[in-house]
Amino acid sequence: MSETVLIIGAGHGAAQAIASLRQEKFDGNIILVGEEDYLPYNRPPLSKTFLEGDLPLERLYIKGEVFYEKHAIDARLGRRVSKIDPDAKTATLDNGDEINWDHLILATGGYVRKMNCPGHDLDAIHYLRNVNDVYAIQKDFEQAENVVIVGGGYIGLEIAAVSRKRGKDVTILEMADRILNRVVAPEMSEFYHNVHTEEGVTILCDTGVTAFEGTDGRVSKVITADGDEYDADMVIVGIGIIPAQELAADAGIACENGITVDEYCRTSAKDVYAIGDCCTHPSALYGGRIRLESVPNAMGQAKTTAKAICGDLQVYNEVPWFWSDQYDMKLQIVGLSNGYDQIVIRKNDKPRSLAAFYLKEGQLISMDGVNSPAEFMACKKLVMNKVSPDPEKLADPTVSMKDFM
Ligand code: FAD
Repeated sequence: MSETVLIIGAGHGAAQAIASLRQEKFDGNIILVGEEDYLPYNRPPLSKTFLEGDLPLERLYIKGEVFYEKHAIDARLGRRVSKIDPDAKTATLDNGDEINWDHLILATGGYVRKMNCPGHDLDAIHYLRNVNDVYAIQKDFEQAENVVIVGGGYIGLEIAAVSRKRGKDVTILEMADRILNRVVAPEMSEFYHNVHTEEGVTILCDTGVTAFEGTDGRVSKVITADGDEYDADMVIVGIGIIPAQELAADAGIACENGITVDEYCRTSAKDVYAIGDCCTHPSALYGGRIRLESVPNAMGQAKTTAKAICGDLQVYNEVPWFWSDQYDMKLQIVGLSNGYDQIVIRKNDKPRSLAAFYLKEGQLISMDGVNSPAEFMACKKLVMNKVSPDPEKLADPTVSMKDFM
């Protein structure tokens, strides 16, 4: 009897899990259930080229329809799984259908964190997580002049760059004392602050939003903690996500800021795996548990899970990496900088180009590179190999990155 793998959530992790299962010669049934109406698609362009409006939907798909046909995937889109039972090995859909499975992969991603201050439910207040969110934002872009963005993280900054490209007046309100506060060093925050200011964005830090006010049910003002008011024809909120762990938690599977998995992506329930944004995994490189929100992580964990299902247990241990595109800048980040005790800046004479190396007790643990592909490629290896480079040489753009290998 052939076995069945059920994948819940049709995003990045799911698409890779399907490809990897077939590559690993899994010839059983694969059922994919996703609540969105679309085949798995690339999410990063949603706040970049797709938001700009230049990219047709078909270009977003990770794999075309033919791929799913060729691999005999039973894709049930526009359907949500409402319950799983790991003992009975069943899943119940929102239309009452029940699916039996032998192996279950939870690839449910995350939900946007929402504001719940007065006025939070006015029209033209947006969040950005999926294709339909982009369509709603683009519709409001047509008439909006003043765009207020709540949150100066990657998503907020990428939306600001697109909004400027579309000729909008853009204000970013950030609660922390600097943008990108959670993810980069103050030097990098300052660099991005300056670029956005040069591009005409107004950035206000230490500015918490306490209310929205509206006219005829539509947002028109944003009110901050110190009583200031900002005119807004539309608002886009980017204040992070919450892992979609409730299916697992309700079924008694261990969760803590995400579904808890081991180094093989196995949850606390037998034959149940979790991958991508929804899970937290042990990090051999950094110690402790981490939850990553990045495409490379979802794909890496999908590969590990496919192997585990096929009986080839291999530890998931990749250096985290991430990217962000804003204006003419590609930011590439390797590793996690938490706990660094020294930062080294390398500046060459190319415009808008900079690399920040994070060291802890002399060891390179992370790097942020803006338009610095050579530094990025080298640091993927240097971080993995726990190298301790000479800081003076790191700072010197005439020293080739190859010299540190
Ligand atoms: P997702 O791709 O989020 O897929 C999860 C899917 O599961 C969703 O479609 C959801 O609707 C569905 N689902 C949830 N619960 C259920 C249920 N009960 N039943 C059925 N379906 C369900 N990462 C980068 O590395 N670089 C970037 O530049 C970058 N930019 C980004 C820009 C934006 C606007 C966003 C939103 C994300 C960005 N990311 C970026 C993050 C990246 O997209 C995620 O890390 C990645 O999509 C995670 O993949 P996943 O498979 O874990 O989840």
